[in-house]
Amino acid sequence: MRLIKPSRLDRAHKQRDRQIAKRAQKRHKERMLRYADSLVREIVYKRDHGRCRACGKSVKLHGHLLDVMHAHHVIYRSAQGSDAPSNRLSTCASCHEAEHQGLLWMKGQPNSVMTFTRVDANGRILNTWESRV
Ligand SMILES: [Zn+2]
Repeated sequence: MRLIKPSRLDRAHKQRDRQIAKRAQKRHKERMLRYADSLVREIVYKRDHGRCRACGKSVKLHGHLLDVMHAHHVIYRSAQGSDAPSNRLSTCASCHEAEHQGLLWMKGQPNSVMTFTRVDANGRILNTWESRV
């Protein structure tokens, strides 16, 4: 029996098929991660009654979505904070931004008691309050 070497065209097709399969796997993984994150967000928003835990603002009015609710990581992902609901907190966009600017400190356990401290640009404490679920 004589072996036939695959032609360049066959190799190119096989390489292309592998690339397509690899891209499809990557897209599937990204979709699954987005889906998992959407489920976590849903749990977090329900636990927090659809309100920002810091200011109490609701993002819905008469069932209509007015704004985007964020699921803030109390321990940042960059510090290996978990994506689980126990590390996530519903926040409105402005409170979330204030936290990341260092103007609103968020400490505690999202599943129970959180303490919020608003500070000015010089780090002076303006007020402190708690939020429980
Ligand atoms: Zn807020």
